[in-house]
Amino acid sequence: MSFLRKLFGKAGPGKGSETQSKSVPATDPTRLKCPFCGALELRADETDEYAYPVWKCTCGSVAASGWLADLDEVGDQLLKMLRIDERVSEAPVPTDNPAISLHHYDVDKVERELPKILSRHGYWFIAMDCTGEGVKERVFWAKPRESTA
Ligand SMILES: [Zn+2]
Repeated sequence: MSFLRKLFGKAGPGKGSETQSKSVPATDPTRLKCPFCGALELRADETDEYAYPVWKCTCGSVAASGWLADLDEVGDQLLKMLRIDERVSEAPVPTDNPAISLHHYDVDKVERELPKILSRHGYWFIAMDCTGEGVKERVFWAKPRESTA
């Protein structure tokens, strides 16, 4: 699919994930495994500051997660959490009707732009699928490059 899927082939369902899923408990959407250090049982913080769940690991990685339809905003939130003054969401495009604006949204573009922005600011990026019972979310992880746990 996207180049991220190829880079991080173990993220998400597919042929490559079969061997991994045998040794890992069924995904619980309320608990995540840190993709950087492998720490288990991370839980999301629901904060007033952010619209989407915030994940933090002791190794220094942080993440934001959200539904597939919101990933541009989830990406924005991750950048905001890292105090990076850039955005991956697109400004709404006005139409002839002032009450309607078109909001372009392209998951692939978000997941292309996000690692570039994060890389410029010294972060690794991993996009992870978080699929549980009736849940299909993506989790965007970032970790400072200098701290290698
Ligand atoms: Zn970690």
